[in-house]
Amino acid sequence: MKGVVTVKITFLGATHEVTGSYTLLEWMEGRYLIVDYGMTQGDDDYVNEPLPVSAEKIEYVLLTHAHIDHSGNLPLLYRNGFRGTIYCTAETMNLCTIMLADSAHIQESEALSQNKKNQRAGRPEVEPLYTAEDAAATMKLFQPCHYDKIYQIDEGLSIRFTDIGHLLGSASIECFLREGNEERTMVFSGDVGNINQPILNDPKPVRAADYLMIEATYGGRLHNIQEDPVAKLVDILSRTFKRGGSVIIPSFAVGRTQELLYFFREIKKNGLIPEYPDFPVYLDSPMANEATAVFLQCDTSCLDDETKKIMLEGDNPIWFDGLQTTTDSNESKALNSNTLPKVIIASGGMCEGGRIRHHLKHNLWNAANTILFVGYQSAGTLGRIIYDGAKEVKIYGDTIEVKAEVELLNGVSGHADQAGLLNWLDMFDRKPSYVFINHGDHDSCTALEEKIKTEKGLSCLAPYSGSSFDLIRGEWIKLTAPVFQSGKKEGTQNRIVKRAKKELNAYQEAVTAAEELLERIRNMKGHANHELRQLTQKIQMIK
Ligand SMILES: [Zn+2]
Repeated sequence: MKGVVTVKITFLGATHEVTGSYTLLEWMEGRYLIVDYGMTQGDDDYVNEPLPVSAEKIEYVLLTHAHIDHSGNLPLLYRNGFRGTIYCTAETMNLCTIMLADSAHIQESEALSQNKKNQRAGRPEVEPLYTAEDAAATMKLFQPCHYDKIYQIDEGLSIRFTDIGHLLGSASIECFLREGNEERTMVFSGDVGNINQPILNDPKPVRAADYLMIEATYGGRLHNIQEDPVAKLVDILSRTFKRGGSVIIPSFAVGRTQELLYFFREIKKNGLIPEYPDFPVYLDSPMANEATAVFLQCDTSCLDDETKKIMLEGDNPIWFDGLQTTTDSNESKALNSNTLPKVIIASGGMCEGGRIRHHLKHNLWNAANTILFVGYQSAGTLGRIIYDGAKEVKIYGDTIEVKAEVELLNGVSGHADQAGLLNWLDMFDRKPSYVFINHGDHDSCTALEEKIKTEKGLSCLAPYSGSSFDLIRGEWIKLTAPVFQSGKKEGTQNRIVKRAKKELNAYQEAVTAAEELLERIRNMKGHANHELRQLTQKIQMIK
């Protein structure tokens, strides 16, 4: 080693936050891989450091699962020059085909509508973050792997995927690193699944690690385990239908939607709502339809015993009479002209995009309806704002009163709670000598850190973006302080955001504003001379 740090991990994304996962591993001097390359969703509290090496220098991506907050920036990596290999399970790859294409579509349509505004305002055009072609080209770099098999992918670098029960194909990843005579096992938990979820297996154990990076989405909380999701759904549906209302479910197209279909099948099959046995369920998401097909064609080793049994009996675990799918947006819009009680499952789990916004606009104001959340709502998202009790919200420029009942189905969280995370950690025979915590908001990270230190007696820290650790010596190379985002939206009701604003000094705000201006000017290369001169004059006036 002779004083040179050659095996080093750098924490970049999802540090004290839940979305935008990415972590850099220099497994050998000057050779890099990243674990996940996710998109940030909702408001971020902290500034994440960009990749400190160019995309061309990244040789591999190890992908824990297909969720966009873990995979969503892969086409951007491609666009920036990455041409290495992306390793993940076959199911993750199949789901990414759908999800990255969808994400590219969102990027392109957002850029298109922004450019209409820019054109009217005389502002320069923006480019989409990435395009459908980028997403398609990225898919060619995927290399599917099986669970439980060790793959040597390069000198001194082997990997193994283990079913972590969070989403179809989701995995924790062990990296077996060898540098000279030194060997280290670095484990990335990925998102740890909940136990007793429908369709999926419970998280499977990893037995040994020198280091572990563990997620902390629910690091500070316990799920309400008393809650039976089917019973709660029956309750919510029955009282909403009695009021003459509909149940609107913002759902993640992949994973959560298939679980809901599984529950609705059970409700229908067992006649659990006798007053309204034929209630229709509309699946208003072409993407959810495609994802459902991936679920039905997956390797059955990914499925739990009950689901396998239903399939062996020749039945379909996620389909039932009364399930109707919409394809085009006219069909989607027509759903709201029919006032009969129904269930609408629409894409847009945190209500940030997708068809759900349209349904919320038409249904939030009516007290007969119920908006049923079925997953975690990130700070700053429309979903979180509604869930936190806003009296009115803005959708497509209109102010909409929130009068509908707002409910949460706890029982179907795809994430382990604090006890689940600690149980999974307990299954290590050889415990990690250091645990890094990420993928949780500040309070969740801190709570889990405290538990792991005091109850498990392990060294543990939730680092901020840019911190790096020497995996050979077992010591921090760099520990960074948090850098808070400036210009946060009002109304997020987030304590940390408020604190961030307080801590952010005026000097830094000025620097940030100037940097943004410079960036904007750099993007204006080639614009009309008079436009550029006007801008120069304005800047000179400030000076
Ligand atoms: Zn996830």
